[in-house]
Amino acid sequence: MARWKCASVVWGALSWFSFAHAADTPWEHMSAPSDDKLQAIGGYANGCIAGAQRLPLKGEGYQVLRPQHHRYYGHASTIALVEKLAKQAQQQLGVQILVGDMSLAQGGRFSSGHSSHQTGLDVDIWLRLASKPLSVNQLAVPTPYSVVNVPAYQLRSDKWQSQHFELIKMAASEPQVARIFVHPVIKQQLCAEESATGGERLWLRKVRPWWGHNYHFHVRLTCPKGDFLCHNQAPPPKGDGCGAELASWKPKPKIESPPKVVTAKPKKRKPPTLPAMCRALLSRVAH
Ligand SMILES: [Zn+2]
Repeated sequence: MARWKCASVVWGALSWFSFAHAADTPWEHMSAPSDDKLQAIGGYANGCIAGAQRLPLKGEGYQVLRPQHHRYYGHASTIALVEKLAKQAQQQLGVQILVGDMSLAQGGRFSSGHSSHQTGLDVDIWLRLASKPLSVNQLAVPTPYSVVNVPAYQLRSDKWQSQHFELIKMAASEPQVARIFVHPVIKQQLCAEESATGGERLWLRKVRPWWGHNYHFHVRLTCPKGDFLCHNQAPPPKGDGCGAELASWKPKPKIESPPKVVTAKPKKRKPPTLPAMCRALLSRVAH
């Protein structure tokens, strides 16, 4: 690509970002963690984090994507997990992981992307595995690497690597990991590969199918011990989740049906109340 063209792509992305800036949430204006005692507060999709830590932008076995979004904060247990997985990926699989969204400096809601990641206990790891350092521009505006042909509901076998299986299994085997979200087609692949090895399948229980996770997987940690204001999610259903539930995600062929007549306006859902301590963190910036 010609240099001017390349520059205009980067400029376009940056100006999009400044435009997106207009709709920032108040959490996106907090430039540093609070100096309170470290703790995750509330639920994954309605909470915040006090005393968060920052994942260093450089470390063994990982690189941080879109650092301009400042979503590289998390609970100490999340930072430790990312660093451990990255080391294992580098040493055992010969690849570097690309770390996507974690949390904001004090957690809370993002203006774009997802509603969770609010308590410092969620992290997105991209399925693009790196063998060398990416340039500043490649990190700032990364190209998604989908391992699923989404419309065909099929794995892209030219993109899927044995390291993907190993990496997701490594993450799911960590005791503090509560759930990992992947596209249902990826879960199918993991189930099939584990069947072929005949190994133990308990880890698959934590790997949950969810749309949108075809170019990254999302790791969610349990509430750390002693974080009494942190809300855990109910554990995943028993079993490896490779049977009927997984099959039910496969889209059914569409049957033409007459248009529905809408009679009542759908009710607007009231947003959940933010935990008191998160409101207190917010009020410190507001005044
Ligand atoms: Zn995520």
